[in-house]
Amino acid sequence: MAPPVANVAVLGSTGSIGTSALEVIAAAPDTLRAWALSAHSSCQCLLAQAERFAPHRIVVSDPVAAAEFCWEDLPPQVELLTGPEHLETIAREPEVDVVLAAIVGSAGLRGTWAAVEAGKTVALANKETMVVAGPLVTDLANRTGARIVPVDSEHSAVFQAMQAGRREEVKRIILTASGGPFRRHSAEQLAEVTVEDALRHPTWDMGPKITIDSATMMNKALEIIEARWLFDLEPDQIDVVVHPQSIVHSMVEFVDGSIVAQLGSPDMKLPIQYALTYPRRAPSVATPLDFGEAMSLEFEPPDEERFPALALGREVATSGGTAGAVLNAANEAAVERFRAGELHFTEIVPSCRAVLEQHDFDPSPSLAELEKLDAWARQEVLRWACL
Ligand code: NDP
Ligand code: MG
Repeated sequence: MAPPVANVAVLGSTGSIGTSALEVIAAAPDTLRAWALSAHSSCQCLLAQAERFAPHRIVVSDPVAAAEFCWEDLPPQVELLTGPEHLETIAREPEVDVVLAAIVGSAGLRGTWAAVEAGKTVALANKETMVVAGPLVTDLANRTGARIVPVDSEHSAVFQAMQAGRREEVKRIILTASGGPFRRHSAEQLAEVTVEDALRHPTWDMGPKITIDSATMMNKALEIIEARWLFDLEPDQIDVVVHPQSIVHSMVEFVDGSIVAQLGSPDMKLPIQYALTYPRRAPSVATPLDFGEAMSLEFEPPDEERFPALALGREVATSGGTAGAVLNAANEAAVERFRAGELHFTEIVPSCRAVLEQHDFDPSPSLAELEKLDAWARQEVLRWACL
């Protein structure tokens, strides 16, 4: 029997994940349909997507950007909604089957939350949601029956590899990390890193925030926390190994010592497609791996001294509570300040640690408390940098 068509709401359709997702959707018109799309302020790009995909609704979450743009070419059957609250509107729509959470940062939390609350299948790229509010989100999903399928390549790999055994047979997971562009940099070289250097990733083509997170290895720290809540693992069951080729996307070790890995070319279309079509698999739109060419796969332990983000990630995964929200917001603010030329590359992680150590820890916060702390931590990063 042919699979039914899944209506997809793409939150963040103009970003790196969002545009890759639309390529996946375009390649499968019989099974996937773009029902709703959203951008923050990239109105021109969103308009072009609306013309091509004819969704029912589009959302521009920045109302000022929406008001300044000329929408006369918008196809009349496409409804335009403006303001961040409408991310929740499209995430909850009864006709929507799958919500792809592809907004960057904690700005993605509300839309993802609405999708989980509405019991949707959530294809989760926005790792910040799990970092900020992992236990609240998984608890909500258990109550509503929402299914969360990871898009982050490492977590998609773990999700797939876990199917080779029973949950209680999992000993640990091993997240792979490319090591970023500064894998071989000395401490002195790291201190000299410019924004341009940090935006050049060796294997993945991604949005600017996650590219800088990869360079500091904060991305891996966030992924440790994401994995902790997504898979309900203890922090000491989550290891990291540097694998510069980004071919092995992550591994699961079972109690008998067998390690199951998932491999593929470093192309986000692969985990996006898996999340959108799960539990089915569809013919790939990504370039397949070619074993006809000689290929080396290397693995090495990460250098925790040069990349102190990893220890921070493990600490936050262990603390839980408010720690994830504070780390995430501090990091978002620090990355912005680095991009604005106001912080050195090597100040990003220490500024996050300083803010984390100052905060008033609560082991079981509400969503409202987490949002308050998010705003507080951003302010603290501004103060820290001025000292
Ligand atoms: P991009 O910066 O490329 O895109 C971000 C998207 O979010 C854009 O559509 C943008 O709209 C929208 N957006 C930005 N700010 C806001 C806001 N305040 N409110 C609402 N929407 C907003 O990011 P990526 O695609 O790289 O990353 C998206 C998420 O996926 C992140 O959480 C990232 O960690 C995760 N991820 C990304 C991977 C990748 O390969 N890129 C890999 C694994 C995970 P506009 O264009 O209008 O600014
Ligand atoms: Mg990843």
